[in-house]
Amino acid sequence: MTRTAIVTGSTSGIGEGIAQALAAAGNNVVINGFGDAAAIEKLRASIAADNKVECLYSNADMTKPDQIEAMFAMTKEKLGPVDILVNNAGVQHVSPVEEFPVAKWDLIIALNLSSAFHTTRLAVPDMKANKWGRIINIASAHALVASPFKSAYVAAKHGILGFTKSIALEGATHGIRVNAICPGYVRTPLVENQIADTAKARGISEEAVIRDVLLAAQPTKEFVKVSDVAAMAVFLTTEAANQINGAALSIDGGWVAQ
Ligand code: NAD
Repeated sequence: MTRTAIVTGSTSGIGEGIAQALAAAGNNVVINGFGDAAAIEKLRASIAADNKVECLYSNADMTKPDQIEAMFAMTKEKLGPVDILVNNAGVQHVSPVEEFPVAKWDLIIALNLSSAFHTTRLAVPDMKANKWGRIINIASAHALVASPFKSAYVAAKHGILGFTKSIALEGATHGIRVNAICPGYVRTPLVENQIADTAKARGISEEAVIRDVLLAAQPTKEFVKVSDVAAMAVFLTTEAANQINGAALSIDGGWVAQ
């Protein structure tokens, strides 16, 4: 059976990897996010052609509820109701709290937390009607533990884990499963961008940030791969994962075991 998936923030990094993997598993996929229009069209066309599935693109800004509603309306009209929702879009900002720009705080809460509320409230009615749905929230190790200078991100990620648990309970008898994946550091553009900022905030070199801050947290001393996270997301859509609900699934080389 061909199912329909939306992956938010999937023009780059982890979301792109999850969209590719869900398509490879035979699902129709809506990709979303910002970037160069030609590159996004190339990605959309290759996901569709390589996997013989439908792949659509939505340019919805996930901080804007009306644009999220338009993305869902477009998806339902062209591909049918959403069966698999992956809330992945997110940004980071690294700064001491007393210097934290108010606009960055508001953006991170809107994108990394509130967007999942809007997508979920739009997805759940059809999932309930179909007695089947999978919601996968890409949280973070920072949903379970904190780091300094990431107050908005840590607050949003802890928040999305609470949201995950609440919706897992609401959907449990309706065939809906809601889980959070909590990756450690994955070397995507999001992480590349914070290396320089973290160096500045801590007054150390970029090499020292990678060795002493990022990989210091991960006992394996290795970055997590996008494909590691994508494989977990696909697993959560299988029947074998049917009793996994409301879980925080760490993929962090042992970070939060410490
Ligand atoms: P990334 O920067 O590579 O990708 C982010 C995606 O979100 C891009 O497609 C971008 O266009 C999109 N996006 C940004 N603002 C948007 C908006 N307003 N509306 C719609 N789309 C928007 O980042 P990534 O590292 O792949 O991160 C993806 C998710 O994984 C985030 O939620 C992040 O917090 C989480 N995460 C990342 C890491 C890591 O180490 N990279 C670790 C744990 C969790």
